[in-house]
Amino acid sequence: MTLPTIHVGMLFSTSCWYRDPHGLPWVEYLHYGAQKIWYSVPSHAEGAFRTAMQDVMPMHTLRSHSHCPIWLPSDSAMVPIEELLKRNVPVSRAVQEPGSFVVIFQKCFASSICCGYAVSESVNFAPSDWLTTCMDAFMMMEFSREEAYFSIERFLCNVATDLKVDANVLSQVPIEELLKRNVPVSRAVQEPGSFVVIFQKCFASSICCGYAVSESVNFAPSDWLTTCMDAFMMMEFSREEAYFSIERFLCNVATDLKVDANVLSQVLSKLEALYSKEEELLTNLKMRGVTFVRSSQNVSKNHEGVDRKNVKRSDSSRPKDASNDEVEEPVCDVCSRRSYFSWVETKSDMNLCLKHGERFLKKHPKTKAADIKVIIRKSKEEIRSCINKAKSRIMELSQRKLSKP
Ligand SMILES: [Zn+2]
Repeated sequence: MTLPTIHVGMLFSTSCWYRDPHGLPWVEYLHYGAQKIWYSVPSHAEGAFRTAMQDVMPMHTLRSHSHCPIWLPSDSAMVPIEELLKRNVPVSRAVQEPGSFVVIFQKCFASSICCGYAVSESVNFAPSDWLTTCMDAFMMMEFSREEAYFSIERFLCNVATDLKVDANVLSQVPIEELLKRNVPVSRAVQEPGSFVVIFQKCFASSICCGYAVSESVNFAPSDWLTTCMDAFMMMEFSREEAYFSIERFLCNVATDLKVDANVLSQVLSKLEALYSKEEELLTNLKMRGVTFVRSSQNVSKNHEGVDRKNVKRSDSSRPKDASNDEVEEPVCDVCSRRSYFSWVETKSDMNLCLKHGERFLKKHPKTKAADIKVIIRKSKEEIRSCINKAKSRIMELSQRKLSKP
């Protein structure tokens, strides 16, 4: 939990009344030297202890007049034990011999006195149930202006990524906190040989209970088409890299003979919107004198760029001599958008979507037209023909429906 601390004491060296503000227990080992005498007050007697301390040393427990949860300043007050006993505070006493351990339970108050030169070492530790109260403890410390020994954020991150930590502890880290804040969390245990379906827009997390091999795939119900453009816009806005290009997806659906008329018409309206946006951006870029290149002339360079830039999801099984259409979409260096129809490449090896290519030119007006080029994979005519295919297919399907008896 914390780094061990070495304590070196002389005759009558004391550690004053103290309770760990993090709510942690600690263990102290007396390496060598003289005995150490410990006094402690159990957690349940806090009220009596607080009243007695207030009575004996009012100036030292000023915080107790306010509603500060941590009312006893650390290591600052030592009172004769008789004074506490007189005020009905239950105090216990232990004599620690060299070579022995003393464990101070969480929320106890403790103090100690050395009977001579002594070297000891202490460290805090946490039982796993401490996780259920740690956030409260840190909040109280903050409220009482008490400095923590460590950052709770760092601690939770370390635990969350520690391979030695069991699933029970791991799940305790966030779930307890979520439930406390009235977040409805459900839990499912997946057995080998079974499926788990995560509904759209759910938040999910999972923990393995041992070595496990699983396989996942996304799928789309047809109503996803009504919201897909918003989802891709939000990803672009949040600089979140998409797994696939929405343009490529819509083109594939538009030319798929298994797709019904309802889906086709939804795809069609989206493709038309994408087409007019594409046309507008290409016109703007053309006006700035940018070179246009067909991506087929550029496949080899493209392959390099794609392989380097998309290491995360690179598909090594894809043949190197793949056709123009097989080349993965470059990811915009600004918004992480995947561009399927066309994109911008700069001399400094940046890949940009058309929108950010145009912004780049606006920002760097001195860029030479030769230093930046638009790579076209799907020309405007090709996109148009894809749209027309979908249109005539819709006609065909509706005629077929009409001609049915
Ligand atoms: Zn972009």
